[in-house]
Amino acid sequence: MKIICIGRNYEDHAKEMGSVIPKFPIIFLKPDSAILPKRNPFYLPDFSKEIHYEVELVYKINKVGKSIEKKFAKNYYHEIGLGIDFTARDLQKNCKEKGHPWEIAKSFDQSAVVGEKFIDVNSLGSVNFSLQKNNKVVQKGNANQMIFSIDEIISYVSKFMTLKIGDLIFSGTPSGVGPVKIGDELKGFIENQEIFKVKIK
Ligand code: MG
Repeated sequence: MKIICIGRNYEDHAKEMGSVIPKFPIIFLKPDSAILPKRNPFYLPDFSKEIHYEVELVYKINKVGKSIEKKFAKNYYHEIGLGIDFTARDLQKNCKEKGHPWEIAKSFDQSAVVGEKFIDVNSLGSVNFSLQKNNKVVQKGNANQMIFSIDEIISYVSKFMTLKIGDLIFSGTPSGVGPVKIGDELKGFIENQEIFKVKIK
């Protein structure tokens, strides 16, 4: 399986990064080795001094598809979850300055937190989500604030790569990203349901 991530998909986050609003979805991948094993803590890696959390809605692909039209995209996912796109911000800055791909900043081991709980999309009216750090809300968003909707993302991504069953789409993060340190605890919520909890070690 692959993890497809969308960058700068919320206007307020693009602004906080000092970036322009994209005209097309910005895509990058994380390998399956990036997934943090269930209920494991996140161990700060030694190659970065600035690991940031980014909470994101995660869509699970349930059907193989290629060049999917937007109007049919809904048939390719039924469940929505929540995760963290951990980012080595210092390495990413460096890569961006040099115009290099930013994989080392985004695709390292444990960089993809995927909550165990997935929710049937049809059971959710609006999709509000939030992240708490040490019991304080640090990020919140709603699916309808995405610059590119999940249906547009599926249509766009599937022009370039075949979507397979079990692939995950990290759909971008709202504003409020920030650093973690040893001892922090992150909790993710969709509406009032806790979807994941991660300790930083
Ligand atoms: Mg992200």
